[in-house]
Amino acid sequence: MLKKLFQSFRFPLRRLPHRRVPDVLTARQHSLQRGDISRYAVSVVERLQQAGYQAYVVGGCVRDLLLDIEPKDYDVATSATPEQVRAEFRNARVIGRRFKLVHVHFGREIIEVATFRADHPQDEDDESPLAVRNESGRILRDNVYGTLEDDAQRRDFTINALYYDPLTERILDHTHGVHDIRNRLVRLIGEPTQRYQEDPVRMLRAVRFAAKLGFDVERHTAEPIRQLAPLLRDMPASRLFDEVLKLFLGGQAEQTFELLLEHDLFAPLFPASAEALARDPQYVGTLLRQAMINTDIRIAEGKPVTPAFLFAALLWPALPARVQQLQAQGMPPIPAMQEAAHDIVWEQCQRTAIPKRFSIPMREIWDMQERLPRRQGRRADLLLENPRFRAGYDFLLLRESAGEKTGGLGDWWTRYQEVGDSERRAMIRDLSGEKSSSGPRKRRRGGRRRTGAGAADSE
Ligand code: ATP
Ligand code: MG
Repeated sequence: MLKKLFQSFRFPLRRLPHRRVPDVLTARQHSLQRGDISRYAVSVVERLQQAGYQAYVVGGCVRDLLLDIEPKDYDVATSATPEQVRAEFRNARVIGRRFKLVHVHFGREIIEVATFRADHPQDEDDESPLAVRNESGRILRDNVYGTLEDDAQRRDFTINALYYDPLTERILDHTHGVHDIRNRLVRLIGEPTQRYQEDPVRMLRAVRFAAKLGFDVERHTAEPIRQLAPLLRDMPASRLFDEVLKLFLGGQAEQTFELLLEHDLFAPLFPASAEALARDPQYVGTLLRQAMINTDIRIAEGKPVTPAFLFAALLWPALPARVQQLQAQGMPPIPAMQEAAHDIVWEQCQRTAIPKRFSIPMREIWDMQERLPRRQGRRADLLLENPRFRAGYDFLLLRESAGEKTGGLGDWWTRYQEVGDSERRAMIRDLSGEKSSSGPRKRRRGGRRRTGAGAADSE
């Protein structure tokens, strides 16, 4: 497909950064076909064009289709304002404040329609309610409409700024995006430092697309990231939470994690986890990487993944140091564990606002780690019935795979689930005989061990 795309198209040798005339690829010069595109996206474009507006399919879906990847969703860009778009469709809703959009609903599919936007210069100190920046140049509101050319220039990466017209079957390329797709490069449009200051999340998007597509981050696009990464600390925590999910639930979590570390982007997102990683790279690195690998495998197999499990893994390594601190202040182990967990989740929410529907099951996965060693009497059977058992058990295996010593607890639970009732009774009976597998709770009482749910076990 790519071969065909580039066969008949010659790339200009010189790069002209502020070019206004796009390269035009006709139907014969690229591999995209109208039939590849969601029929709803095509019909939205058709309808808008019939109403006299310009309209194109744009962004990630054009990029993905050129790379033979099935697009996640379809975006349309148009000269019509959100209100004009809404007037054209029965099932359309205007959404967003910072960035107004129209969602056109077709059953479960949503086509996202955005009005062409213009860049607004940083030194323009008018009090326009349409475009607002803060003192560091970050765009707080972005509703200044513009031409198609303006719209191409204000997009983030060249590979995301390709416009496809399904009626003429032409691609318009204002930023040499096709060239960068061919060379497998994620390249910011415009001056990188300024573009990151306008929207620091673009740093995360750069590594996300690099990981997803197997592209390199172009040198000038990569260079300022390290220095500007701390800007992420001032971003709204709810937006960062959404972005973190896209980073780790896109099927390429492992590679994304490596790139986040390489570009110093992990620490501003997960400060406590980054500290734990610096203290104990072997154990924490293995645990986090294994969590990412497991997530990628589940996604590849079409199995569900929950952000609760992911966050449980990401923050787990931060617990022991905090528990230790509280115990040093005289707090007993169990309250220390509870308080440390609470504090760490609260602090993390300042960076990435974890909704309660995820933070509550996340705490339950952690609590399970305290309960899984306690199996006497009817406890094991009650645990098996607990709705959080499976996640708690998977989490135990994850800890063990990172080298935590649990006295064979994971194997015990694996076997307990496999065998019949009489064997189960025997397994429980055996427990009273062997102290060593009765779990950290017993040991903690007599010894110095601080918590059963701690990375300390791995040391
Ligand atoms: P995917 O949907 O696969 O994650 P995408 O490229 O479609 O990737 P979206 O977040 O859906 O990404 O955004 C759609 C398009 O809007 C992008 O392709 C890009 O052109 C533009 N865009 C999105 N976010 C930004 C941003 N922060 N700055 C500039 N342009 C952006
Ligand atoms: Mg998209």
